[in-house]
Amino acid sequence: MIRKKQKQVPHTSGRNEKKRSKSRCSVFAKCGACSHIDVPYEEQLSIKQGSMIKLLNTFCYVDKIVGMDDPFHYRCKVNSVLLKRKDGSVVHGNYSEGTHRIVPIENCLIEDERADRLITDTAKLLGDFKIKIYNDRSDFGLVRYLMVRIGKFTGEMMLVIVTRSPIFPSKNNFIKALLKIHPEVKTVVQNVNSRSDSMVLGDRDIVMYGKGYITDELCGMKFRISPRSFYQVNPVQAEKIYKRAIELADLKGDEVVIDAYCGTGTIGLIAAAAAGRVIGVELNADAIRDAKKNAEINSVENIEFICDDSTKFLEDYAEKGGQADVVLLDPPRAGVGDALIETLKRVKPSRIVYVSCNPFSLERDLKKFTEDGEYTVKAITPYDMFPMTEHVEVVSLLERMTKRKPDTGISLSLDMGEYYDIIEKETMNRQKNE
Ligand code: SAH
Repeated sequence: MIRKKQKQVPHTSGRNEKKRSKSRCSVFAKCGACSHIDVPYEEQLSIKQGSMIKLLNTFCYVDKIVGMDDPFHYRCKVNSVLLKRKDGSVVHGNYSEGTHRIVPIENCLIEDERADRLITDTAKLLGDFKIKIYNDRSDFGLVRYLMVRIGKFTGEMMLVIVTRSPIFPSKNNFIKALLKIHPEVKTVVQNVNSRSDSMVLGDRDIVMYGKGYITDELCGMKFRISPRSFYQVNPVQAEKIYKRAIELADLKGDEVVIDAYCGTGTIGLIAAAAAGRVIGVELNADAIRDAKKNAEINSVENIEFICDDSTKFLEDYAEKGGQADVVLLDPPRAGVGDALIETLKRVKPSRIVYVSCNPFSLERDLKKFTEDGEYTVKAITPYDMFPMTEHVEVVSLLERMTKRKPDTGISLSLDMGEYYDIIEKETMNRQKNE
């Protein structure tokens, strides 16, 4: 394999755009969440492509970034903080980037418009019902945040009202009035958060209306979403990423697959149809509960879910001599880290599909995977999961090398793929000449 030299597009953060006096977003200067909002979409993609090539091209060829046909209003999960104005009206918005200042937002360009409408009307209703809005300076009031989750492909909507304590005055009348304006809402949950940190959701959910969860469909399967379980905020791109991950896993039907950061089981459940057996591992107990339910509603029987830290699980698994053919990794921004990589090298899966939401921790982890020549990177495909922001999601494939790097003492400026290609060619030439 010859490492191709890829054309690099200079990296810009879109910061110059901030200087423009007129942004397409009315709160751009105050909110600051979408650093690329005024960069034309094609240019955003080429900026991201350029930075991914710069960062990851040393491992293997970086595919063309997969963008969105419509890069606006893609967020299906919206959090909003509430603010009571002096005139008694209630407005909603975001904290200004890096501060504790609330920026009122009516129409966000990346959030689902249905979610924004529901939040605006709920905030108004809270004001009409004279329900107290929490003020973190005085530590007084009841309602702190609103969260809306939408099933992109089912249209189901969930409203979560986050309160300081478990009370809710005029609960039934409030729900009645809300459903009159938004009959499409499937469920309303009160989440109790009495903490003083910046976490939006607390540990207790009280179902006010409906079943307490909604359902969405991805890759032909149904997924249950409850207030606190992880579900990708951009399902259109998530579906493409999952399909690519399954394609790279290259399952033949009898493999043992470990989905090491399985969330509500999404990738593992999709993989199960093409594999022998799947084990999903996840730290969050709520997500595991949803994952088990998801297996049941999709009638998937060759999957089991374990609530554990993935490194600890893999250490125990390796200790017991457990085997895996394919491992799927989809960790949070911190990446998987050295301990998990060392353990995986003992389990020896032939393929590792690594889905990353942070290319910098991916780069660090890929270095660790490949440093002793035990694994080599075979594919890198970037996805624009968060248009208008600087974030990039990457799907990559690592393959296990069957031969180990010989200790020649010679420093080679080739990667192991190139090295073995050359050895193979030389052997063939020698055989021809013999
Ligand atoms: N693959 C899933 C979830 C990816 S998000 C999906 O696409 O929907 C990453 C998940 O890793 C989260 O659900 C988080 O709770 C879980 N997680 C974080 N740290 C973990 C750890 N140390 N061990 C196992 N799971 C972890």
